[in-house]
Amino acid sequence: MTDAKQVKLKPGDTIGILGGGQLGRMLAMAAARLGLRCQVFSPDPDSPAFDVVLNATCAEYADVEALELFANDVDVITYEFENVPSAAAMVLDARRPVLPNRKILETTQDRLAEKDFVMRLGIGTAAYADVTSVSSLREAIARIGLPAVLKTRRFGYDGKGQAIIREGDDIAKVWTSLATKSAILEAFVSYEREISVIAARSATGQVECFDVTENEHRDHILKISRAPAQIPDMLAEEARSIAGKIASALDYVGVLAVEMFVLANGTGPKVLVNEIAPRVHNSGHWTLDGASVSQFEQHIRAIAGWPLGKPVRHGEVVTMTNLIGDEINDFDKWLSVPGATVHIYGKGAPRPGRKMGHVTEVRPTKDK
Ligand code: AMP
Repeated sequence: MTDAKQVKLKPGDTIGILGGGQLGRMLAMAAARLGLRCQVFSPDPDSPAFDVVLNATCAEYADVEALELFANDVDVITYEFENVPSAAAMVLDARRPVLPNRKILETTQDRLAEKDFVMRLGIGTAAYADVTSVSSLREAIARIGLPAVLKTRRFGYDGKGQAIIREGDDIAKVWTSLATKSAILEAFVSYEREISVIAARSATGQVECFDVTENEHRDHILKISRAPAQIPDMLAEEARSIAGKIASALDYVGVLAVEMFVLANGTGPKVLVNEIAPRVHNSGHWTLDGASVSQFEQHIRAIAGWPLGKPVRHGEVVTMTNLIGDEINDFDKWLSVPGATVHIYGKGAPRPGRKMGHVTEVRPTKDK
């Protein structure tokens, strides 16, 4: 594994991006503005990121030869999704620096390892238990209580691989429906709001967090983000310091997102960590139009070995609204909304739940 401190790209160098979705596309666009090239690796020939780069590799993540050729073409490698197969990361890592460090994937690909890691740092999470069978599920329920959320340890996203268990539910049936042997049970958190912190960390240990974002989900999919979150300053500071602590403990280089629950007034902790995303994140899209440096640019700077920016918000980010599925068909209505900035990802056919674009509305701060 290469020492991240040795990476120092110069304009004209090439970044390899694993994954060709909208996050890879926006990373490549940010890199281009800084005079850096990108090459995208994705098995999907319709990858929206392919449209914005000169060189693309369309191959499976198990294709060792394609991975090796890709590595030879680039100076540093990063990823836009957390489920990069560890075998692929190892092949690449033997040839070029992979940032963030591939060891981080082992922690963040597994909800149990992730929760254990957060807890070891002394940061609050919902009560949780390892579940491997219907009998261990019953034991976990006896300890944690109901309602609770059962989640697969791996490959869950946008509410997939999750089930809420309520009093009176058929436990054996819920367990079978999840179709897994490795899950965790989490206490159901009746949170006041959901927030996230997007943090960037450089190889030299510089950490820069964006203002805390407040998130609204619909059908388990992020629908609207707002920044700054309407929470007291002290709580925002706590949230940002939690994200910084996590980034430093992981020796992270790049941008990560920490999703958290804010609890209503009580005696215990006010903020609980729900999930860490080792990548740029949907709740940070507002930074493209609402801040002096975007999350995508921060990530590129970090993995290039360049100084991070000090992000300054241009004003109140009234809404970042995801255009999901058929909503993209109304994009032209958004084009005439005063102050709105429209982003369309260039994906194929809209499907229910598919993120097709987003719109940001910023209310600029008036000069005093
Ligand atoms: P996740 O895949 O863990 O990010 O969960 C997706 C969404 O499900 C979260 O954004 C919450 O809205 C909800 N959720 C997840 N875990 C819990 C929990 N323990 N208690 C209450 N709601 C949860």
